[in-house]
Amino acid sequence: MDEEIRARLLKERADAVARLRGLVVSFDDIVEAARDSNLDDEHDPEGTTIAAERSLVGSLADANERQVAEIDAALARLAVGTYGRCVRCGGDIAPGRLEARPSTPVCITCAASSNS
Ligand SMILES: [Zn+2]
Repeated sequence: MDEEIRARLLKERADAVARLRGLVVSFDDIVEAARDSNLDDEHDPEGTTIAAERSLVGSLADANERQVAEIDAALARLAVGTYGRCVRCGGDIAPGRLEARPSTPVCITCAASSNS
């Protein structure tokens, strides 16, 4: 049972890391494109688009980094035997919630209250 969860967490972690790598590559492309266009024209009308793309890539990268950190924390809880327990209230996290999001650190009640 634990091994299944561990395998799933590791797979999700690998996916997130792969997405992060892809984002870093595209981020480099954007920077490269920005540098090229700046050489051509300092008042490039594309400049704002590049800035917007850059911030989008940045926030996607942040989201993936947070996910990797969340998965690492879940793996650590799995190792010490507290996986499936809410880190905030100590209650059990519903199996359905863990199924949908294996790395979640909090139960649905705590998740709902922290989002408001
Ligand atoms: Zn809770």
